[in-house]
Amino acid sequence: MTWWVIKVNRTYVINEEQAATIRMVFTLYSQGYGEKAIVNELSRLGRKDGHGNVSWSCTKISRILRNATYMGYVCYNKSKVNNYLEKKRINNLDETSFVYVKGNFEPIVSEALWHECERIRKSRIVNLRLPDGETRRKGIDSTKYLWVAKLRCCCGSSYRIFNWRKLKDGTPVFGYQCNMRTVNPTRSFVLEHNMTQQLSCDAISIPEWKLELMAKKIFEKVWGNQNKAILRACKMIESCQNGKATARMSAAPIQSKIEKIKKRKLNYAAMRADGELPREEYQALCKQADNEVARLEQELKALSPAPEPQTVSSDMKAIYDFLSQKVDVHGACLAPELIEQFVEVVTPIADYSYRWKLNTGCKKSKEERTDLMAVSEKPILTFTINFETAKRYRESNKMPHQFRRAAWTDLTVEVYL
Ligand SMILES: [Zn+2]
Repeated sequence: MTWWVIKVNRTYVINEEQAATIRMVFTLYSQGYGEKAIVNELSRLGRKDGHGNVSWSCTKISRILRNATYMGYVCYNKSKVNNYLEKKRINNLDETSFVYVKGNFEPIVSEALWHECERIRKSRIVNLRLPDGETRRKGIDSTKYLWVAKLRCCCGSSYRIFNWRKLKDGTPVFGYQCNMRTVNPTRSFVLEHNMTQQLSCDAISIPEWKLELMAKKIFEKVWGNQNKAILRACKMIESCQNGKATARMSAAPIQSKIEKIKKRKLNYAAMRADGELPREEYQALCKQADNEVARLEQELKALSPAPEPQTVSSDMKAIYDFLSQKVDVHGACLAPELIEQFVEVVTPIADYSYRWKLNTGCKKSKEERTDLMAVSEKPILTFTINFETAKRYRESNKMPHQFRRAAWTDLTVEVYL
């Protein structure tokens, strides 16, 4: 039987103490706590696990967060048979194919809270761990649309991918074009024919390899040595998460309230000494103030210390391992997962000038991305890519040799944080 349920008089009832622990896990996670911070918190409070021990790990927290039973659902399709000869059951790691069915038992957490935690889980980079071959293949497939999701034209439009041409060996070469440009006449044509109401865009198409080349140079420059880069990336993510947690659970406003009440109490004493306050009234006011302070101090106690930002927690360890395995220092190009996670948006501001916005690991939806045509801050980095650099990049990636200097224009790159 599951650990949060106990048998009383032949029926099963929820063990409130255990249920409270589970609720705590979901609540803390929804407030921005990482798995490691929750482990620390549960241990600090002496909460018991399913075996009656105070012995928590990130794995246990992760398992609780993924368990739909807590919101009253049964989850199917969590594992499948590998093939009909061996009939070995393997874990299905593709959460999107899970099937949830409402069960006839009492939920411990609300569906809203469970799904909020699910949303946070999915937005964190840990999801990039792809232990089985199948999901990894899926990942590679979806990188076809990687740049479609990152590019945004100076006209505000999105980009589409197209087959630029085919190499002799049949390998397709992709390019990206502004959707506004694709479906409308060019800006010059519109001006020439005085079409005042006509939408248009003059942005030129971008070959995929140029985007990859820029990405590689940016990551090299911004993060220098790749190993250091990974660690820095991990810390960025972590401080971003901790920032959220501390902002919500800040003790400062409570402390200042306590100070205020204590001052008020001193005033009562002064008033009493001056004979302005009758004895009973004075005592009642003091009692009221003391109660309020006691309540606030309880609130303060309930706040846990923010997780120390300097250490790389075990969540981060997993990410670190993943990234260091993915980022091949000697590799010709960058792992798409790195671009997926750390590039927010790319906007060409002129034919050969690009603005890149990096993000700190908290993925943003399409609507939340920065409008790079309206930036107020200065770029953290500006550089150009010349013909020689491009040529070396093409060679190390075994791209075709026909690449002429006369047809090349240097690329200007601005990077924003
Ligand atoms: Zn456009």
